[in-house]
Amino acid sequence: MREAILLLSATIALVAPRALAQTCAAPQTAPYEGPLFDAMAQTGQDLNGEAAIAAARAVGVTHMALFARVHKREDGRDLVARLAKAHPDFVVMGAPKQFDMRGDLDSDYVRDAVGGVAQGRYAFIGEILYTHGDKEGGEVTATGERYIDPTRAQTARLVDGLKAHPVPILTHWEVYDWARDWPRFDRLYTAHPQQVFVWPHAGFGSPRQLGEVLSTHPNVWATLSKKEKAQTSLADEAKAENTGEPVADACGALRPEWRAAMMLYADRLMFATDAHMANRWANYQTIVRRWRRLLGQLPPDAAAAIAYGNAARLYGVAAS
Ligand SMILES: [Zn+2]
Repeated sequence: MREAILLLSATIALVAPRALAQTCAAPQTAPYEGPLFDAMAQTGQDLNGEAAIAAARAVGVTHMALFARVHKREDGRDLVARLAKAHPDFVVMGAPKQFDMRGDLDSDYVRDAVGGVAQGRYAFIGEILYTHGDKEGGEVTATGERYIDPTRAQTARLVDGLKAHPVPILTHWEVYDWARDWPRFDRLYTAHPQQVFVWPHAGFGSPRQLGEVLSTHPNVWATLSKKEKAQTSLADEAKAENTGEPVADACGALRPEWRAAMMLYADRLMFATDAHMANRWANYQTIVRRWRRLLGQLPPDAAAAIAYGNAARLYGVAAS
């Protein structure tokens, strides 16, 4: 009897993961087939940019908001500028992303970003890393995160500098320390109601957190980049536990609470790949196909707005 129970529990342990996986069902809806505007992508200098753009066009991406990464061994500024010049119908160029600012934005960064926008070079401010938990295989910081307080002086200076040439600012902040950071971003968004802020990856948050931010601030938009998968790359488990679930279940069906949030905020959410490192650029077409299947589960108007229309409006591109 004892052996039988042991055998039974061993069998349950073996079959349980499969049984769990089968509790969901693959969606039966057709994929979204319309145009896509990739609202956020970034690169260093090593990408084969022509091949990347050709691959994106081949899966129906018609525009891409692209900015350079500037880091110790990375500087994508020349490449992004060349691609923007060669593909003005496709690339919308943003101010570069700087990895090495701490505490507050550097005043040189603010000056260059505002200057580039005033000269018409940048159509938006590329992602600023306000709160960024260390990722597996990435930089290890002493505090476990990169941190810029959005309520300090240089962010206000950046917003002031953009008043004459309004463009969106991409503010990357993650929800893992919600109690510390949401009040600060709440203050930032409240202080500058005319400035449009984009929240990349919706902070890796939950539908409830997305709702709290977007319902209280009409000047905040969000991209859904990386929300197609679980945020498993955070190095710190406690931080990882504080992030929200992906938009879809294991079978690729939109979770009901995410689907509801996507419909409620269909005028301010945007598809984006956040292609950045080599592996995400290499998987570009797979990511796009996954998003076409996800968008196909929304009503057509909401799908078209999230796929293309909102980004076209945000970045001032005439609808095609
Ligand atoms: Zn980001």
